[in-house]
Amino acid sequence: MANSAVRMSTSPPTASAHPSQSISISNADPTASQPQLAAHSSAAEILRQVEFYFSDENLPHDAYLLGFAGIEGTNPVSLSLIMGFKKMKQYRPKTMVREVLRTSTVVEVVDNKHIRRREPLSVQPTVTPRIDPSRYASDLGRVEPHLTKNMLKPTGFEPGATEGPITPAQFEKYSPDENILVRLETAVNSFNANRKMHQNTRAIFEKLMIFGGFAQNSHMFQGGMNKKQMKQEGMDKEEIEQATAHYGVTEQVTDAYWKEFEEGEKSSWVVDFEAIAKAFFSSQFLQWFDWTDAKQVTTAAQVLRNFYNYLTVHPVCPEYNDQILAARKVCDLAEQELPKLAIVDRSLPGAFNSACSTLFGGAFANVYISQAAKDSWGHGADNVGLDRDEAITIFMAGLASHGTSEQCEKASKLGDVKCLSEERMGLEVVAVELPSDTVKETYDFLRKREGYSDFIYAMGKLVCKRWDIPFDAPLDLPAFMMEEKEDKTQRFEFLVEAETLAFCEPGMKMEAIVKELDLGIKWLDAVEVVYPTFHTWLPNENIMAWKEPGPPTAWMKRQEARKMGLSEEGEASISAQLTQRTLQTRTMASVPSTMKGVIIETTGGTEVLQYKTDLPVPSPGDGQVLVHNDYVGVNYIDTYFRTGLYPAPKYPYILGRESEGTVVKTGSGDLYGLQEGDKVVMLSEGTYAEYTAANAAKAVKIKSGLEAKIGAAALLQGLTALTLIREAHPVKKGDWVLVHAAAGGTGLWLVQLLKAVGANIIGTASTQEKVDLASKAGEGSITMINYSKDDVKSKVMELTNNAGCVAIFDGVGKDTFDLSLECLARKGSMVSFGNASGAVPPLTIARLSPKNARLLRPTLFGYITTREEFEHYVDELMDFVTKDKLDVRIHETYALSDVARAHNDLEGRKTTGKLLLDPSK
Ligand code: NDP
Repeated sequence: MANSAVRMSTSPPTASAHPSQSISISNADPTASQPQLAAHSSAAEILRQVEFYFSDENLPHDAYLLGFAGIEGTNPVSLSLIMGFKKMKQYRPKTMVREVLRTSTVVEVVDNKHIRRREPLSVQPTVTPRIDPSRYASDLGRVEPHLTKNMLKPTGFEPGATEGPITPAQFEKYSPDENILVRLETAVNSFNANRKMHQNTRAIFEKLMIFGGFAQNSHMFQGGMNKKQMKQEGMDKEEIEQATAHYGVTEQVTDAYWKEFEEGEKSSWVVDFEAIAKAFFSSQFLQWFDWTDAKQVTTAAQVLRNFYNYLTVHPVCPEYNDQILAARKVCDLAEQELPKLAIVDRSLPGAFNSACSTLFGGAFANVYISQAAKDSWGHGADNVGLDRDEAITIFMAGLASHGTSEQCEKASKLGDVKCLSEERMGLEVVAVELPSDTVKETYDFLRKREGYSDFIYAMGKLVCKRWDIPFDAPLDLPAFMMEEKEDKTQRFEFLVEAETLAFCEPGMKMEAIVKELDLGIKWLDAVEVVYPTFHTWLPNENIMAWKEPGPPTAWMKRQEARKMGLSEEGEASISAQLTQRTLQTRTMASVPSTMKGVIIETTGGTEVLQYKTDLPVPSPGDGQVLVHNDYVGVNYIDTYFRTGLYPAPKYPYILGRESEGTVVKTGSGDLYGLQEGDKVVMLSEGTYAEYTAANAAKAVKIKSGLEAKIGAAALLQGLTALTLIREAHPVKKGDWVLVHAAAGGTGLWLVQLLKAVGANIIGTASTQEKVDLASKAGEGSITMINYSKDDVKSKVMELTNNAGCVAIFDGVGKDTFDLSLECLARKGSMVSFGNASGAVPPLTIARLSPKNARLLRPTLFGYITTREEFEHYVDELMDFVTKDKLDVRIHETYALSDVARAHNDLEGRKTTGKLLLDPSK
């Protein structure tokens, strides 16, 4: 600030006070900009003028510029905007002006189009930043209604409009002896008759009346006569007024009134002007009018105030005067608060939350941003989504300034960060915490750091608690989830830009989608509706007439697009985006929040398998799709995680590695062409459940014609067998190979694939039934040995002329390892790929010497790491299945709830072929 303080004074300094030599001294890159500076004859004046605009003396009091520069004054501001200011119009061309500004120590040139103040303001703004109304209007595509001469005449709604003197007749009209309903009805119609209602004011007044229990009964008693005819019929003025009345108290209200006063029955009918005003401004008005337009809010406030004035001046119901005054105050409050709320509505969820949403599969994921929108980010085109790099920068900056070191470290492996939950909830703001000095310093540091975007703004916190959305459908959730939802002490902290926080107030409410990362960070994925602090819900909402909505107009579509954070450019593009979003929303609506699944919280026998029906449905993150699993494959590896032979990455842990099903929701990033509705087969963690957020890179569309269950039954074991014979030991025609547990899941695949490539197979199995089964699978190419009773080594040597097998595929592990080495040929490959009988104990490599043996301990995942490898082997496997007509043997399909039996059967050596789980049962 030291440098800039020198430049700031109460008025623009004169040229002499701003000598050009100081310009060249302050220039960070004198060689680059000095020549251009010299080339502009008014360089000193330009610099002086622009620096004054951004100075501590001007900016804090300049609501217009502050609207762009933000409350800290450091947001980038369009250079064109500055050059459009009256005093700047004389300085052209833009390129040279920009070069001059490069020399400033007060402002800096951000990019070709923007400049901004280098240091945050050192004094608090004295005015509320104002959003440029012209740009705001054009954003919404609004047009000013045309004005006719008639419209320029006084309407009676002008702010200073007063009622004329009260005549004795008028006093009589509102005699306190008269029933309140009759008095109000008369007042409403007299008020209506004495006002010149413009289309807009009429719409507001009508909505207020209907909301307040009045029905429009336009000309209902007229019998088709106009006023002139009525006069000729001898009707007096009052009769005509009544006959042409536009408003009458609704039947519901009259019925309730008479029931209460004549029959003594307690009804819900009450006179409450204040509550009506609050409820009107917090629901009806928001619903029916463009409340984001400050002018519209002022008009509405004026209409209501004017009506309340009428009621007090005449006086219609003096017994309710206190209420009416309170209702007037609500108009003032609405006028103050709704414009702020409009800015909040426009700015939330804000950069940090949008960044989370972009990166972790939220509403902002996959939102296309045109370059144009991107360029103008931060200037009215915000909320159209972020590109990935921007999102990462904003996310990491948020963590760096507000997170813990553990969170930052975990987040450095962005791909590992998972979204844990998603909840649509009502929130009420309980506190607004502006960024601390430390936070500001961190952001400042990050902004200056190489590679960080210029568009990172210091974030403060919006602290909220749960708020019951009054008109929400009742929830039907498990007890523990209900408890959580009813807990009003829980606090939710969301990172939000300081300049948005400036417009937030405790008591403000919103309906939002809140998501949580496994880093312990919650974010506002979407803010659907915001409500003012005085939000009130009245059952009157229920009596409001409901009309079948017509097709949305262009204006409505733009409004909708803005609410959804989509690009608002081009009608066709808006329509396309909305359709896409609607489809997504519809599909999302069919995804429940809880699901069935099997978790383990500790390791052990099958007793640790817990079947749950209320697990949270995961959200697809970056590069992920949410798959509804139809069938889930059971693999030996699942038992390793259960027993603890392989450590689970976290607890509770959902077991399972493969499934087939349907994509029901897509996350962000590269999804390899997968879309909602695609039938897929995939390798993924967490498949023992109804839904799995799976990495799209390990999922492929199921080829048409493939029967249900075949994908889930084939993928993991089929790919294991295929990669083993292609890569662990590329098997050639005529090779002698040994396959242990040949009737098992992977065993049967090995047998059939080896047969297909022309190998001579020797298989082992523990029972006659298994021997027969594997013999059939490898018919013509296989010799089976029952290894629970026959001598495997002598049989292998006999069959191979004492040479042994060139490759041994051993998934049994501990029990067969030594035997396998003995059966191996010279220069052969000992492929140990599993531990069904236990892990192979450590061995000395000298044991490989006698046969110059190669020992491998491969995993499938090491062969299909890249998408290309994965696709290549899936294609080849599916070719084998369809062209070579491989028999994909399914041992049994178990209900998911019967998972323990499946594990017992597999480990108890009772199975042949594939075990599947049906997650719907
Ligand atoms: P299987 O269907 O083959 O079942 C295991 C079989 O192993 C049993 O049916 C049994 O057949 C045999 N077995 C031998 N000794 C034992 C024992 N003590 N306890 C239990 N079973 C025994 O299972 P999978 O096809 O799912 O897996 C087979 C092997 O392949 C496993 O070790 C697995 O870990 C491994 N695998 C490795 C992969 C990798 O990437 N490396 C990928 C997939 C699987 P029998 O009664 O005939 O002896």
